[in-house]
Amino acid sequence: MNITFKSICDKTWKVILKDKLFVFTVVAVILGLILGVIIQQDHTPYSTDLLVVLLKFPGEILLRMLKCIILPLVVASVITGLGDINAKSCGKIGGVAVAYYISTTVIAAILGLCLVSIIRPGSGDQSDFISKDGVTINENTNTLDTIMDLLRAAFPDNIVEATFGKDATELTEITRDDGSKYLKRNLQFKSGINMIGVIVFAIVVGVIMSLYPEESAPLMKVVQAVNDVTMRLVTLILWYSPIGIFFLIAGQFAGVENFGEMVAQLGLYVVTVLVGIAIHFFIILPSIFFAFTRSNPIPYYYNMLPALATAFGTASSSATMPVTLKCVEEKNGISWRISRFVIPVGATINMDGTALYEAVACLFIAQVKGISLNFGQVIVTGLTATLAAVGAAGIPSAGLVTMVMVLNAVGLPVDMLAVILTVDWFLDRFRTMTNVMGDALGCAVVQSMCSKELAEMDQDTELQMVGEKS
Ligand code: ASP
Repeated sequence: MNITFKSICDKTWKVILKDKLFVFTVVAVILGLILGVIIQQDHTPYSTDLLVVLLKFPGEILLRMLKCIILPLVVASVITGLGDINAKSCGKIGGVAVAYYISTTVIAAILGLCLVSIIRPGSGDQSDFISKDGVTINENTNTLDTIMDLLRAAFPDNIVEATFGKDATELTEITRDDGSKYLKRNLQFKSGINMIGVIVFAIVVGVIMSLYPEESAPLMKVVQAVNDVTMRLVTLILWYSPIGIFFLIAGQFAGVENFGEMVAQLGLYVVTVLVGIAIHFFIILPSIFFAFTRSNPIPYYYNMLPALATAFGTASSSATMPVTLKCVEEKNGISWRISRFVIPVGATINMDGTALYEAVACLFIAQVKGISLNFGQVIVTGLTATLAAVGAAGIPSAGLVTMVMVLNAVGLPVDMLAVILTVDWFLDRFRTMTNVMGDALGCAVVQSMCSKELAEMDQDTELQMVGEKS
């Protein structure tokens, strides 16, 4: 017994010594949760209290550093990833990745629809807990405008402008003199990186560079250097991340208003989303991983823990992307040719957790309001939830914003979003972890499907290097 205990201690100590950063990150999450809950129960501060703002401050600095690095990292990694791939392999890698993104997102949305129909979290007498104070929701969002905005974002008219904002349709209801109403469309510039535009641009540049290797060699060297330096910066930021994550989580949990009330009112809804996320995270995604790679998913998951902790702390797949890239490349042995395409694109469009969440939330609202949806409307909910997840940016609560589109598609009232908002910050962390894991596993699936192409590319590069030397 003693020996076993000693050996366990020795093993744990070895892990601690070998992977200090990983241990610090996990400890940071746990301590952050404990501190946050203790402060919350002791003082019940408001989210804007100085105490909470100060508590979150070191975390805010982490978020700022991660966000700051996203732009050079995405551009450099996509271009270097595609820059020396031939067009045929590039097409296959892209095709497999997109097929994986779409199928896993659709599966997640269907899972959400099934669970919410079985558990029926909104069927009790809950309509009286609706309180909409202080929340403004833009009710005028429709599917067609969202698709057009997505396409507009993919083709920015100014690449510099795309690095700090994008156009989005704003619909305003106007009343004519005769009392009739119509919607006026306006393109509004919204700040925040236009990730889709930047990625599309980088993909095209990367592919063109791969077609003209000689002409683009000097530029490729520069981009490669930018990539290497940015990855070193990521390593530096990672050493600060346990501190940032600790404070982010403590501040977030400390500042929750009416935690008990929130759980009592929306408990079953929260449980439904969490059960769905757990099934997707622990059963569906690992099964897909196993089906394609024939290997044990547990070590792969274990190696992703720093990225998962960052996703939990930041609630943003974009901000987590630098850590995700590092984990898949350095710990899970994914080829940079795959990860540098699959992770940035995945962090922007592949959101399984968000699709599941939107599907559950939409039917939950219908149940609370006593509106029964027919089969066609349920299908539309699933499809629009998938699309809304693709359209959602990898930032906190993006899923809640694009959910207006899902509700409008089936004619459900959007006022209930104000209620869901109270638990969104909490669920967001779990769906972001699922989104990040989905991208990471996608790399393994693409790698196993494209192993022949990868081997060919490695051979080409070796031959090239031998040629250059001689
Ligand atoms: N926060 C999520 C993410 O960054 C998006 C969402 O709100 O669902 O992946």
